[in-house]
Amino acid sequence: MNEAIDRNWHPHFRAYTEMIVNHPNYKGLFYERAEDGRVKWVVTGKSEKGQLRQAWWDKQCRILNIPIEKGCYASAARKLHPTKVKVCQCCGKSLSILYEYPNKNLLKKINAHFGLTLNQTDCTIKDIIGQNCMNKADTLFWIDTFGLKLTKSDLDVTIAALRQKIIDLVYKDFVDKCQSPLSPGVMSNCPDRFDGFHSDGLCCREKTDKGRHTDNMKTYTQDRRAYEEWADGDFNLANRLMGEFKKGSKTYVCPKCGKRRKMTADHIGPISLGFCHSTNFAPLCQSCNSSKNNRFSKSDIDKLIALEKSGKTVISWHSKVIWDALKTKVKNDEDAKKLSHVMVQCHQNVLKLFSKIYTTCGTEYLERFLHPEFAFYDYRFDDFNPLHLEHLNIIKKELDSTNKRKNAERYKRVAFESLEDFDDKANRKITFVIEQYEPTVQKLIALIKSKSYTKADSLLKDLIRVMSMNIKRAMWD
Ligand SMILES: [Zn+2]
Ligand SMILES: [Zn+2]
Repeated sequence: MNEAIDRNWHPHFRAYTEMIVNHPNYKGLFYERAEDGRVKWVVTGKSEKGQLRQAWWDKQCRILNIPIEKGCYASAARKLHPTKVKVCQCCGKSLSILYEYPNKNLLKKINAHFGLTLNQTDCTIKDIIGQNCMNKADTLFWIDTFGLKLTKSDLDVTIAALRQKIIDLVYKDFVDKCQSPLSPGVMSNCPDRFDGFHSDGLCCREKTDKGRHTDNMKTYTQDRRAYEEWADGDFNLANRLMGEFKKGSKTYVCPKCGKRRKMTADHIGPISLGFCHSTNFAPLCQSCNSSKNNRFSKSDIDKLIALEKSGKTVISWHSKVIWDALKTKVKNDEDAKKLSHVMVQCHQNVLKLFSKIYTTCGTEYLERFLHPEFAFYDYRFDDFNPLHLEHLNIIKKELDSTNKRKNAERYKRVAFESLEDFDDKANRKITFVIEQYEPTVQKLIALIKSKSYTKADSLLKDLIRVMSMNIKRAMWD
């Protein structure tokens, strides 16, 4: 491998290489170290060193009783891998080496059916089914999609039991047999890579993933991104309602262009600017929604102010100062755009501050600003009419305790993970000013460490206020 690629190792990947080469399962497999101490992970299969590795893998196949034929090294690599979780060299993400992710076609089908925008490696099929199999229609979708053979008595059980049955069958018939429509998180590559798997996972083979584009600020889904903003409000209900829009096949008269079309949801008040998760969806046809091009407009702001007047909360606690200071100053779409820049700047600085608190104080203090309780329910909608959401009948159902826990954990985990690699993914357009407040930050951290949370809360709010006002002075006034 050339040096340029070598330097791009993600730190998690480096730790992974050490774990693997020191694991007894790979005893005797050839490797060397570079001058900087790293494992020389890659050799060329045809080289002398490659032949040393090849001989080792051949021996493993014999020991494991795997006939030398197509796919034998992949099987051996999967069998020998101690954790079945590989770390992506490029982004550091942990990926299952098993066939646990939907392939592209299946993913498309799942996203369309449930109104999600999952990427291939966001969740394993176990988690996807676990979180999207809440009623009879859902179970039928999975049974049909995988062509599962179930007897009448198999079906005559609780939803939870049937869900488990479906997962078990999918694992038996597809994951364990390495069958399409599932894919592994990483393709095999023996004997070149030490562990027998490609260094980049599926996650990084698809860099064209629009869902993660930072400018795409109104894309709003149960993607990880929905949890990364530390927004207030019921994310779960918002997501389900968004799904309902995507699912709908009926056409309606578009309020903007007057054409009869399927409706999409335009979320008023993007969470990436600090707004709340909400069901403030404005229906628009696909073409009107795209031509709006995710821009924050004066009319969006008018709608948000009207919602506030009716008693609704539209802005998350951490962004209220800047919103209140500027919302009435917006005169036109140009101002609205400017406001969105100011808000994004404030919000990213708040997240940077959170990231600092998280790395120095852990999760306990910050967790109080999260709302895992919203993850405890499933929603269905009666009388869904995108043009009349005010008549929407929301049917709320409590989940069983396993799913409650799972959903809440995922939400919390993603929220904190987003703070972990915060510096890596921060948008270059953001100027971080938090360093200017270092003495206050240190005081805040001391309060949190001594568990004086009430005092810490008021200092944190003060700090956000001062910081927001300074950003306003620099960018707006
Ligand atoms: Zn990756
Ligand atoms: Zn339209």
